[in-house]
Amino acid sequence: MKLSVIGCGYLGAVHAAAMASIGHEVVGIDVDARKIEVLSKGEAPFFEPGLPEILSEGIASGRLTFTTDMAAASGAKVHFIGVGTPQQKDGYAADLTYVNAAVDGLLPYLSPGDIVAGKSTVPVGTAAELAVRVEATGATLVWNPEFLREGFAVQDTIDPDRLVVGVSGDGADGAAEVLREVYAPAVAKGTPFIVTDLATAELVKVAANAFLATKISFINAMAEIAEVTGADVTQLADAIGHDVRIGRRFLGAGIGFGGGCLPKDIRAFSARAEELGRGESVAFLREVDEINLRRRDRAVQLVVDGLGGSAFNKKIAVLGAAFKPHSDDIRDSPALDVAVRLHGLGARVTVTDPAAIDNARRVHPQLTYEASRDETIRDADAVILVTEWDEYRRDLTPEHASSLTGGRLVVDGRNGLDAAAWRAAGWRYHGMGRP
Ligand code: NAD
Repeated sequence: MKLSVIGCGYLGAVHAAAMASIGHEVVGIDVDARKIEVLSKGEAPFFEPGLPEILSEGIASGRLTFTTDMAAASGAKVHFIGVGTPQQKDGYAADLTYVNAAVDGLLPYLSPGDIVAGKSTVPVGTAAELAVRVEATGATLVWNPEFLREGFAVQDTIDPDRLVVGVSGDGADGAAEVLREVYAPAVAKGTPFIVTDLATAELVKVAANAFLATKISFINAMAEIAEVTGADVTQLADAIGHDVRIGRRFLGAGIGFGGGCLPKDIRAFSARAEELGRGESVAFLREVDEINLRRRDRAVQLVVDGLGGSAFNKKIAVLGAAFKPHSDDIRDSPALDVAVRLHGLGARVTVTDPAAIDNARRVHPQLTYEASRDETIRDADAVILVTEWDEYRRDLTPEHASSLTGGRLVVDGRNGLDAAAWRAAGWRYHGMGRP
């Protein structure tokens, strides 16, 4: 099928390449000329495992092209909208400028029978408003929220755990059938394909992210209680996680969630609920947000306390900058936030990360960056693990760290290290919510 993908960021570039990889003819469109130039060469403009391979295959096959020219969308049967919906600068609501601009820019190139499939995460009610404009052209609007996880985005796009398509108005059944065809390989495997109305589809996405954020903040709240009682939150998580109704995943206490989705999505959800007169229904999300942010304070405090009450002029090795491993995304990264705060306390902070240094340097040029993990640790007074890359969590032994520095303070912001092993090697180990 001929498809267009408007917006070629973390979501859109992967979507375009993944759709080409399953046999569609895809044009990716973005206003960012630099990104389009890189993508057109078959290169990934950001770190995402497996993306360079499907990009270069798609380009070589002739089925995948990229352009800044919206006119190229003309002739496609389905037009995916994957532009950003960041938090507004002066409030919690989502900034819909880009979604509106993308849809309005696309309208002149739509033909009757085309389908516009929104993938961006939007406040409930957005799709119904956009539908009026889209349907005036004879095209149909559906909402097809995206659940991909950065780091697993290619796999999640080609083989998602569910597909959700919100439809409305005339021709709605036909539109869902076309989406079923687009995702034929996943549908053939029996992937749940859930057809809803527009509002439900929009809400499924924000509800899923609200739930995940709540689960993380729940265990982090337990970490706070563990810290004043001497309990160990990792054992607590293991024990409650055996209950299949609870489950162990997303119960990792640490410095909390970040990234381009969870923080802004729960805030936009709160803002939208308030607009709808139902602010109290999701008032707990404010608490979820606050618990999350408090954990960054805690990590900083553990370093400062461990250094005897002041981080001034101390060399601190910060392991990680990305908001999570397998990504170079530093949007709202707790790891970088901790690094910036320690820098603000007068520490000599060196940050390392296998993928995110360039992005981090652009946003926080005041920090020192070092590609080598070992050079980062060398002669550090304290080491803090803030992004659980295997290079730090699994591969770094306390014996090796001891060979690099005489500093013997390690703060494990992700509870990813073997506390007993680090202590046995003479380190003062501090985890999150652990004695
Ligand atoms: P991003 O910032 O990486 O990409 C957005 C892209 O849209 C940019 O390349 C930008 O140049 C482009 N753009 C902006 N205005 C445009 C226009 N008028 N026409 C064409 N292109 C335009 O953002 P992202 O992480 O890819 O997120 C996009 C959306 O997907 C957001 O709503 C986000 O919440 C949602 N989402 C993201 C993820 C994720 O893991 N990144 C997962 C699920 C859902």
